[in-house]
Amino acid sequence: MMGFEKVAIVGLGLIGSSLARAIAERLPGVTVTGHDASAEVRGEARALGLCDTIVDDAAEAMADADLVILAVPVGRMADAAAAIAPGLKADAIISDVGSSKASVAEALAKALPHHAVIPAHPVAGTENSGPAAGFASLFEGRWCIVTPDARSPGEAVQALTGFWEALGARVDVMDAAHHDMVLAVTSHLPHLIAYTIVGTASELEEVTESEVIKYSAGGFRDFTRIAASDPVMWRDVFLANKDAVLATLQRFNEDLTVLQQAIRRGDGAKLEDWFTRTRAIRRSIIEQGQDDAAPDFGRKH
Ligand code: NAP
Repeated sequence: MMGFEKVAIVGLGLIGSSLARAIAERLPGVTVTGHDASAEVRGEARALGLCDTIVDDAAEAMADADLVILAVPVGRMADAAAAIAPGLKADAIISDVGSSKASVAEALAKALPHHAVIPAHPVAGTENSGPAAGFASLFEGRWCIVTPDARSPGEAVQALTGFWEALGARVDVMDAAHHDMVLAVTSHLPHLIAYTIVGTASELEEVTESEVIKYSAGGFRDFTRIAASDPVMWRDVFLANKDAVLATLQRFNEDLTVLQQAIRRGDGAKLEDWFTRTRAIRRSIIEQGQDDAAPDFGRKH
């Protein structure tokens, strides 16, 4: 990788700790300093041997860093940026991994008006959180979306792109508002649906909770994986990407009504046609290497 010799990571949870591990494995010449606001997380990260150094103070962690990556919940980006500001080198590049981009880009630009800020989002993750949950291969073959704006220096965008590629990711560049629409439908809405259905099932009076769990292989359990995702992270995603989520939710509600009507009218052709199209989408995801072809997500039977 060109350019970066020292990388600072702020937030050592699932994504921050995966970054630390991936850099150690794939970019052994790069020095990594880590920081997390939580003393407990810093202790855990030290015990796991993550990063070359883990520093208690956010500004101190910035010493000599060429690239800083903020890996905190999106609602904490502004605080994290304010805390690192006094320690930053003048030519440091600041980026993040937040799941929504327009509001994060605005918060970072406001907190760090004199620095090159280039937001990014690795579209890779799991339902687990914390430093022990991370792993080095998390970004391999996954997409990382970089969202520069008109003021972003071209070389900085290139250097950040090269960094993510060196960690095994594929990089796409798009504007923050478009990112937020794309992710609203591919990630945020599916999480909202999963959170809804798992909540609904647990509150149904006619079906006991033990039955919901016992018969979950019928489909329910696949929603529970998503609905087990970090509550703080996801609270922040919905608050930060409000407009795009509400717009896609409106479309979803319309489509749900179409299916509801087809069921009520006994319109089997409509249902079959719809389900045939959705099956083709699953096939495309597998063909493009974005999921395993093994049936039932590779579960052992
Ligand atoms: P996580 O495992 O909960 O880790 C976040 C860490 O940041 C926690 O240790 C947290 O400490 C710490 N933190 C919070 N505020 C801080 C601050 N102001 N300064 C320093 N550290 C702070 O979360 P994650 O899953 O890694 O998510 C991190 C970011 O990546 C989020 O913006 C999320 O939207 C994005 N992302 C997540 C996924 C995913 O699948 N999980 C995928 C792509 C992108 P406390 O616990 O004490 O608050």
